Amino acid sequence: ARIVDAGSTDDDGVVEAALRPRRLADFPGQPKVRDQLGLVLEAARRRGSPPDHVLLSGPPGLGKTTLAMIVAAELEQPIRVTSGPAIQHAGDLASVLSSLTEGEVLFFDEIHRMSRPAEEMLYLAMEDFRVDVIVGKGPGATAIPLELPPFTVVGATTRAGLLPAPLRDRFGFTGHLDFYDDADLEKILARSAGLLEVESDGDALAEIARRSRGTPRVANRLLRRVRDWAQVHGTGRVGLDAAHRALALFDVDEIGLDRLDRAVLDALCRRFGGGPVGLSTLAVSVGEETDTVETVAEPYLVRQGYIVRSPRGRLATPAAWQHLDLSPPAGAQT
Ligand code: ADP
Repeated sequence: ARIVDAGSTDDDGVVEAALRPRRLADFPGQPKVRDQLGLVLEAARRRGSPPDHVLLSGPPGLGKTTLAMIVAAELEQPIRVTSGPAIQHAGDLASVLSSLTEGEVLFFDEIHRMSRPAEEMLYLAMEDFRVDVIVGKGPGATAIPLELPPFTVVGATTRAGLLPAPLRDRFGFTGHLDFYDDADLEKILARSAGLLEVESDGDALAEIARRSRGTPRVANRLLRRVRDWAQVHGTGRVGLDAAHRALALFDVDEIGLDRLDRAVLDALCRRFGGGPVGLSTLAVSVGEETDTVETVAEPYLVRQGYIVRSPRGRLATPAAWQHLDLSPPAGAQT
């Protein structure tokens, strides 16, 4: 597992739960989504009825699960957690739906990964608060409609485009989460440092924020490694020196690139003169699977403007040459 991976890991699960903000007012960043969601929830609270179903979309580690829990807390309702991959058969979903209590929040992580039949059952349930339970098999099977109490689905997806339109349309409110700026990440880090009961300096938190790839999950993980370093080799305080040394130890550079990201950039510039070079050739030259390079390293490099995907292959941009302290050779295509 990479230290800069925005996806969850088991080890993170427990610590992450402790660092989650519990209420909307404690949730730094994403001002648009926060205000919109705040309005939707407050109106529902005043009406005394469940709000529209909520869809949260955006890359991993930006706070979708956290916001789902906040929705339940703000509505003072229990939350049931499930995920697309966990629901493979319509029957799995029927049993979850039929056990919901009135007003309960059903959090559906990775909702785009649900099976088709389950999807159809879900959108009918979201619209009419009803499921058809199939009794029996073969020609004698009959569908018995079962009324459900009103409930709220909070769906999370990294790929809103993959949701079929009928399902997407059942969500009355969609919030799009975007990468955080450094100032918001610093606020998150200051709060996390408090919860972890470590003293910290502002410049150290700013340094960690800069290397966190716009992602709170990464920021919190880097903070924990800097804390470790400070407790073992330093005074226990998260200061700038501890941040520099710990992040150097874990190979996270000034802009949050790790060993693999840099190997890809380095190969692209030094070995292939800045490209264009095919993805699989690039992957072989850094000794990785094509898929790993494409899904793990490349998205951030592309987003930050170090690599461009062209029909003829990958190209290094001037920023890539600059980051490696190299000058592009005459004739390099950038
Ligand atoms: P996602 O579901 O989008 O992958 P999570 O909600 O699980 O992301 O967030 C990952 C980690 O980042 C959690 O530990 C959470 O506390 C933290 N986090 C995410 N967004 C924020 C935020 N706005 N403020 C504070 N912590 C956050």
